[in-house]
Amino acid sequence: TAPELLRNFCIIAHIDHGKSTLADRMLQLTGVVEARAMRAQYLDRMDIERERGITIKSQAVRMPWAYIGEDGVEQPFALNMIDTPGHVDFTYEVSRSLAACEGAVLLVDAAQGIEAQTLANLYLALDNDLEIIPVLNKIDLPAAQPEKYAEEIAGLVGVDPSDVLKVSGKTGQGVGELLDRIVQRVPAPVGDPDAPSRAMIFDSVYDTFRGVVTYVRVVDGALNPRERISMMSTRATHELLEIGVISPEPIPTTGLGVGEVGYLITGVKDVRQSKVGDTVTSLHNGATEALSGYSDPKPMVFSGLYPIDGSDYPVLRDALDKLKLNDAALNYEPETSVALGFGFRVGFLGLLHLEIVRERLDREFGLDLISTAPNVIYDVVQEDGSEVHVTNPSEFPGGKIKEVREPIVRATILAPSEFIGAIMELCQTRRGDLLGMDYLSADRVEMRYTLPLAEIVFDFFDHLKSKTRGYASLDYEPSGEQVADLVKVDILLQGEQVDAFSAIVHKDKAYAYGVMMTSKLKDLIPRQQFEVPIQAAVGSRVIARETIRAIRKDVLAKCYGGDISRKRKLLEKQKEGKKRMKTIGRVDVPQEAFIAALSSE
Ligand code: GDP
Ligand code: MG
Repeated sequence: TAPELLRNFCIIAHIDHGKSTLADRMLQLTGVVEARAMRAQYLDRMDIERERGITIKSQAVRMPWAYIGEDGVEQPFALNMIDTPGHVDFTYEVSRSLAACEGAVLLVDAAQGIEAQTLANLYLALDNDLEIIPVLNKIDLPAAQPEKYAEEIAGLVGVDPSDVLKVSGKTGQGVGELLDRIVQRVPAPVGDPDAPSRAMIFDSVYDTFRGVVTYVRVVDGALNPRERISMMSTRATHELLEIGVISPEPIPTTGLGVGEVGYLITGVKDVRQSKVGDTVTSLHNGATEALSGYSDPKPMVFSGLYPIDGSDYPVLRDALDKLKLNDAALNYEPETSVALGFGFRVGFLGLLHLEIVRERLDREFGLDLISTAPNVIYDVVQEDGSEVHVTNPSEFPGGKIKEVREPIVRATILAPSEFIGAIMELCQTRRGDLLGMDYLSADRVEMRYTLPLAEIVFDFFDHLKSKTRGYASLDYEPSGEQVADLVKVDILLQGEQVDAFSAIVHKDKAYAYGVMMTSKLKDLIPRQQFEVPIQAAVGSRVIARETIRAIRKDVLAKCYGGDISRKRKLLEKQKEGKKRMKTIGRVDVPQEAFIAALSSE
């Protein structure tokens, strides 16, 4: 298709404002998916996406749209729609998709108004110079206030309120007008058809049957089937076995030209050879200068993942390698723990990302895992000036420390103004600094804070929601580091440190952590034949202590005089139990105790 007849757009919105549902109606209206094949959230293909009702991976679909011009003549347009995830953890996916588009449909729920991710996504789209099409969705809802929120959006985007389209992804009302508006407002892709070919890889996934499937957007020239191509960052060359568009299933074509979005198959089995952000060019008369790629996302939260059954370690390694293929944000390296054995220290974008990876490891690879309490990255400067980058509390240096720096974020919270007090209180307990506050309308405010990442990454959002009866929304972005009064709290069993329970916390919260952990372990660890002190310590200073009293645990005493085979059975049973024990010093700790102590955090 000629670039003049192409439009590449994405839909951006706060989570649950109806992107996927609107995408469904577009697929139906353009005839890409027949009514009877239709299912809700058609493009959310992963099981987890379907069950949780959220989009994780971006999706690109090509839709034909017959546009009737002002002269009454029908023009056959091709629209490439890229559905993007809405959650903060996946901003990285969103920005990749935006780079492949010229326009963005900014979707806002007509019963909710602008939310934190509406703003975050809008700013991302503006950074990418996209044409913004403001749209109010869910106008079929009785609670919809289209006039009020049209004004809110118009004020934000800088257009007249009458320019805000009103649609319903549920009933399909207004969706045809929206597609027309996309044709009218979104610029056609610009590129040089005669230049050496250059295409940007914006996603690549592994398919069991076809090997690696690479999603590209052609910027200059054209890519043709059977030609040899080169990946510009690695110079690896491959034959293009198949090239085509997704509509909504893969359809082979005779090539992809300027501005077109589609997929490539080269028979490669390793996704690392098809790196997201890389430029594809033709081997013959290829381009010499690559397109500017994407910066790799940086993991923000780290956790140790350990197989419950130690023999699953190779399976875990293999599974992480596979997931990494289409999740550039996933980082990991081997790690060993006295308490938990062999595992990996894994870096994630945030807690939702962690949860999703864990769930995929469980479902797709059948792995039973323990994960340690998540932590952020700390920079520790020692007395001699040397600096340590700590991703695992057990790496926190002992001895004298000059300073510890922790990552901070700039957070934006949107909420009804009646909750200002409650939000301020919460942010205060999380060591937040108020930067500013603006009224979006008479009764809604935007509050801006800097907060330590460690303070918001775990349960901040849950607390924020419950303190605002669900009305607040949150977005945040990294904003450098700050020096803070942080200490490492160690947990010791009979004087032996249990590495999996060490944590880096603010000095004022060290005591609370120590008390919580020691009392939890006291209940979880069975009594031994000797007394076991459980201590929490900062350096050599003990800050909390519990004791497990000794018992005489003689299983044979119970069957004194009983028959010998019963005794043997009991002994065997005890041996079995021992196998699932970890020994810390002289103390036997059942693995369940670790799991329980780590999970309820
Ligand atoms: P996404 O997170 O932005 O992809 O949102 P979804 O498309 O998954 O929609 C979130 C929820 O809103 C789902 O329960 C949808 O059924 C519902 N929804 C989406 N669009 C509309 C609409 O136009 N009208 C109504 N009444 N509900 C809608
Ligand atoms: Mg969705």
